[in-house]
Amino acid sequence: MYNKEIIDRISREHSAEKEDILTILQDDSEDRYLFEEADKIRKQNYGTDVYLRGLIEISNYCKNNCLYCGIRRDNRKITRYRLTEQDILLCCDTGYELGFRTFVLQGGEDIYFNDDFLCSIIHKIKAKYPDCAVTLSLGERTEKSYNALFSAGADRYLLRHETASKSHYEKLHPAEMSFDSRIECLKTLKKIGFQTGAGFMVGSPFQTHDNLAEDLMFIKKLKPEMVGIGPFISHNETPFKEYKNGTLRDTLVMVALTRLILPNALIPSTTALGTIDPQGREKGLKAGANVVMPNLSPVKFRKLYSLYDNKICMGDEAAECRKCLEKRVESAGYKIVTDRGDWHA
Ligand code: SAH
Repeated sequence: MYNKEIIDRISREHSAEKEDILTILQDDSEDRYLFEEADKIRKQNYGTDVYLRGLIEISNYCKNNCLYCGIRRDNRKITRYRLTEQDILLCCDTGYELGFRTFVLQGGEDIYFNDDFLCSIIHKIKAKYPDCAVTLSLGERTEKSYNALFSAGADRYLLRHETASKSHYEKLHPAEMSFDSRIECLKTLKKIGFQTGAGFMVGSPFQTHDNLAEDLMFIKKLKPEMVGIGPFISHNETPFKEYKNGTLRDTLVMVALTRLILPNALIPSTTALGTIDPQGREKGLKAGANVVMPNLSPVKFRKLYSLYDNKICMGDEAAECRKCLEKRVESAGYKIVTDRGDWHA
């Protein structure tokens, strides 16, 4: 039996049994109620505020070979690029003017970006913009490295766990990559004091509803400050090119359940969500998300950072991206704020 009481209970207790999650995933009859409830909880914690994160894609070189990802090592078809320190600082200048108070430096695992290089950039951004947060999304590094980056002034780190099931993780990654290492990294980041982001793809190859339930159990336990959730989207130059994309519906359900389970989490309405549905990001906001991440990367490199096919916002200058997002956010009934948008209890 599926009724509103299951949603009410999850909402009240901020926790869910696996059975409840499976029930919700299997039956869409109460979706509207679930999304409304998630929106209510989001408004109790963050009002109608939406935080902006300026995404700077600093390199598409990657030493890893994740089977789903378009910038994987074995994709010989793409032109590789990396931004210089000056490029990155220019992106921040543009972003600051446009009201961004968080810069996210994301990239493949590019060994060129050693600690000295990254610490120097972080110092420079923080010196110039002391009122801004710096978020990193640069994959798995050593504890020593994470410590150095934190000491240099980085505030947050995004490292999606991708899936909380070890056996499923092993189907999405080559043997040289390890589920346990990824989870260890997340624990280390939390221990060091980063506001930490975990997250997962919805509808990735071989994923079951059971796996999605495990993802929620995992985030309930880890309590990351941020949770990135987006649909898997196939990329033509990967071994998963024939696999189906994740669905809008399942992604929205996972966003909403995450909001109920971690009421204070910062949850982006992802670009991937906007890619599978023209109104995807608006729908994500209405299902409990409270962050958007417009692209601040130089336009000439954008299409080279192709994690998946048909990614949106490829041609727009930062200012256009910002304006477009603002309209979308307002049309959904929310408001972009010029604020670091830190996690709060
Ligand atoms: N190298 C960094 C950043 C990875 S890119 C790291 O390892 O964390 C950021 C996220 O994009 C990934 O964590 C993954 O969840 C997502 N992603 C990659 N390929 C994707 C695809 N084909 N469809 C949807 N999301 C994808």
